[in-house]
Amino acid sequence: MKFYIETYGCQMNVSDSELVRSVLAAAGWEEASAPDEADLLLFNTCSVRQHAEDRVLGRISNEKRRKLERPGLKIGVLGCMAQRMGKRLLEEDTGIDFVAGVDQYRDLPRLLASESGISNELDPLQIYPGLQPRHQDKSCAFVTVMRGCDNFCSYCIVPYVRGRERSLPADDIYNEVRRCGEEGRKDVTLLGQNVNSYRYGDTGFPQLLSRLDGIDSIYRLRFITSHPKDLSDGLIDVMAGGKRICRHIHLPLQSGDDTVLRAMNRNYTYEHYRGLVEKLRKAMPDIAITTDIIAGFPGETDTMFDNTVAAMRDIGFDYSFCFKYSPREGTVAASLPDQVPEEIRLKRLQKIVELQREITLEKFKAQIGTEIEVYVEGWSRKSNRQVSGKTSDYKIAVLSGGEKDMGTLKRARVVRATAGTLICE
Ligand code: SF4
Repeated sequence: MKFYIETYGCQMNVSDSELVRSVLAAAGWEEASAPDEADLLLFNTCSVRQHAEDRVLGRISNEKRRKLERPGLKIGVLGCMAQRMGKRLLEEDTGIDFVAGVDQYRDLPRLLASESGISNELDPLQIYPGLQPRHQDKSCAFVTVMRGCDNFCSYCIVPYVRGRERSLPADDIYNEVRRCGEEGRKDVTLLGQNVNSYRYGDTGFPQLLSRLDGIDSIYRLRFITSHPKDLSDGLIDVMAGGKRICRHIHLPLQSGDDTVLRAMNRNYTYEHYRGLVEKLRKAMPDIAITTDIIAGFPGETDTMFDNTVAAMRDIGFDYSFCFKYSPREGTVAASLPDQVPEEIRLKRLQKIVELQREITLEKFKAQIGTEIEVYVEGWSRKSNRQVSGKTSDYKIAVLSGGEKDMGTLKRARVVRATAGTLICE
């Protein structure tokens, strides 16, 4: 019997799908390379924006016709949407046979053998101990260090669907990172909704990072995501002194206006955030800082939005993931007064996307003529004589090369740049 899994949303879902692969392989399932070969279609879903949910429902509605061609085919929904909507996904004529939320993947074999459609195993503190993820990428790996989030940012559905924060044992993380390196995955990204609040026994995140930095089977160590309210001087020191820790931090700002930040329940001010950027750049002048920005949060006036634009110019992020605010049922922000009309949200989004494109292009162009180190991960999309990979500061680079360069570190000189790629020789 074969399964096919489609993954939506963030890296945490990518990592969870690797756990699901492991659970199913242990139960005797093989992975299909295309949906039409599968006896089981799984959709690992995202609930962060309405658009993400609509997209997956559209895909499922397309796929359910396969049930006519392949009797016995089952369709399952996993992830945040399964957790958020549960039985409601089974009520209408969706073609969905079962749902399993983010803490219920160990129950999949039982669920597949039953007709119940919904998992009744619920462990709100699930960390999947002893389950080795089946990493898909040959050269890079995500390793989860904590699950859940306690922050309740007022726009965010994550704490409701992924539950409270819990950290994985430091020894298990150490062994997993070492295994990744030994298997050729030399670029490892540690994952958590808020890695800064990692704590297992006496080990906080700086101690964990420092210990993992000593693993010589890997070349590079990254982490996402940091919450600005919890980013400590200790962590900055460990980053600056690290041998393998990359010169990159993803630090979501969300808004450059303090009134909006308060309404978002972010628990920091722009001044605090600006101070962190200064400390990071002082300790590591070559660090890249990327961020997330939300345009059109409820109550955001033109002046408040202008503060975000000014903050983006002031800091000069290497890259920003920009979104327009999407109300999520059950969150505090969804019921706030003064929701910003869709067309204004869209206009603001376009403005910051364009601004970031200009800043990113400048940042990339500033590297022309410099020598960089690239971890080669695969072929360039445009030429079979070029390979591509990432720099320590999380920029994509292409350079001439071949099969023998895969999984190695190469030095290269930047000769041209676009707003997304460093072209090297
Ligand atoms: S820190 Fe805030 S935005 Fe991030 S997952 Fe937690 S609640 Fe959501």
